[in-house]
Amino acid sequence: MAAINLELSRRDMLKGMGCGIAALAASTAVAGSVNVAAAAGGPANEDAWGILIDLTRCTGCQSCALACKEANDRPHPNTVPIRLDTDAYSYVEERQIENSVGDKETVSIKHQCMHCLHPACVSACTVGALRKTAEGPVVYDAEKCIGCRYCQYACPFGVPCYEWENPLGLIHKCEMCASRLAEDEKPACIAACPNGALRFGTRHQLLAQAHAQIVSNPGRYVEHVYGEHEVGGTSVLYLSPVPFSLLGFPELGDDPNAKYAEAVMKATPAIALTVASVVTALHLFMQRRQQVHGEATVHAESHKPGAEL
Ligand code: SF4
Ligand code: SF4
Ligand code: SF4
Repeated sequence: MAAINLELSRRDMLKGMGCGIAALAASTAVAGSVNVAAAAGGPANEDAWGILIDLTRCTGCQSCALACKEANDRPHPNTVPIRLDTDAYSYVEERQIENSVGDKETVSIKHQCMHCLHPACVSACTVGALRKTAEGPVVYDAEKCIGCRYCQYACPFGVPCYEWENPLGLIHKCEMCASRLAEDEKPACIAACPNGALRFGTRHQLLAQAHAQIVSNPGRYVEHVYGEHEVGGTSVLYLSPVPFSLLGFPELGDDPNAKYAEAVMKATPAIALTVASVVTALHLFMQRRQQVHGEATVHAESHKPGAEL
């Protein structure tokens, strides 16, 4: 059994490292020719599509999150997601806060990709697998992805999720239902919301609408549209009844983080990719070891006296 273990371990380790070496070779080939358009963060089009999320209207019904899973053909379509992961491109968090008169209050917060105007993930991707479209969505091309996970490191909102189970690795994230938009349909989450908490329109229109709502509803909203200026602006915008810092929204400057990601990319392409490759290899190695150990335990149990066959 020890010999089999060793053989499996080495094979899995080599498989993981092979991916890493392939990715590293690809990185070396492209490191000197970072896509200039992508590094610039793609088009920052004010008339592109956007989503306005009004947290004062969200009841936490989860319809949007489940519609998202269905639209993106994710597994377990009836299970309510509790975080962004490869199975869920959006989720609704319930957060307890203390309101201005000291009472406890629950605020439901829909999370998803912010579709930044200057996306750090796009700047960080050396092979152009992520792209900001003129229509608004930041889309992903699995065919181009080498699994380096730079986009994960670069995203200031922790959005891209990595498919660890796949030796070649794939990134998962919301694409603003770009394929539905191409068919003149709204994103699935927008269509599913029964409470008017999600609005779809051009970013320009949504910003005007958000500011008009703040003015015409004194006391209902804080005077801040999250995403208007953060990291140079995002296509997903939020209205909130309380300061965003109380809801765990990252306090980011107005400068696009893309500039930061671009600088990191140019400085460390091979090093970061090598680290990502080794981490992937180790993950596969540990996972297989656990599987083999589990199988060995079951095998030993089934050979105990009195065990059912
Ligand atoms: S939120 Fe993250 S993944 Fe989405 S566009 Fe911005 S940087 Fe990219
Ligand atoms: S736009 Fe589409 S993929 Fe993005 S959160 Fe909404 S339903 Fe999900
Ligand atoms: S469907 Fe609308 S009300 Fe329900 S959780 Fe989503 S955003 Fe909130």
